[in-house]
Amino acid sequence: MNSAAFFSNASRRTALFCLFGLSVGALASVADEPQVSKPRSKSATPNTSAKPTERSVNEAAQKIRLIDSEKDYNNLNLGERRVLLLKGTERAFTGEYTDEKAKGTYICRRCNAALYKSDSKFHSGCGWPSFDSEIEGTVRRLPDIDGIRIEILCENCGGHLGHVFYGEQFTEKNARHCVNSISMKFVPDSEELPPTLVLRSKAAARKQPAPKPAD
Ligand SMILES: [Zn+2]
Repeated sequence: MNSAAFFSNASRRTALFCLFGLSVGALASVADEPQVSKPRSKSATPNTSAKPTERSVNEAAQKIRLIDSEKDYNNLNLGERRVLLLKGTERAFTGEYTDEKAKGTYICRRCNAALYKSDSKFHSGCGWPSFDSEIEGTVRRLPDIDGIRIEILCENCGGHLGHVFYGEQFTEKNARHCVNSISMKFVPDSEELPPTLVLRSKAAARKQPAPKPAD
């Protein structure tokens, strides 16, 4: 049984669905009116209770723990490694957070960096958790090796999160971060965030003053 090959093929299939299935779904939403793909109106937007002040307090509360090497990030099981480190894709509709609606913060499973707040999460019907915006400065965007999509990674540790798509009109922000559940861990608002694990070398580089421009 070659499970690695199976996973790889499954990944390609689900990744293609993520890309193309959604485009088709967005176009078809007016015709068949399924439970998917309908842009939310302002009145239907959930979670109006999260106040901006709560968000800042929560984010400010996340501490940093310096680590010496990448081995000191959180231990990952095989499935987590396949997605976060090898850029795999979780099968659609199988992730634990696809339909999660609780209030809280989604952090990186590898380094604990806070990535998304639940108030940016919306139901897209694509089979993966969808967010219309990240916590500022926490998500890096790169052209995907497929030459079409935009890959998203954890800015702190470089772990693969998924892809971001624009122009689908799901929300006013008009962006869909299609994130693998397995790349994240959900922390409810009632719990303290664990410290972000930051490589000592990276923290030192951040402290370096920007070089002065040449005269
Ligand atoms: Zn990370």
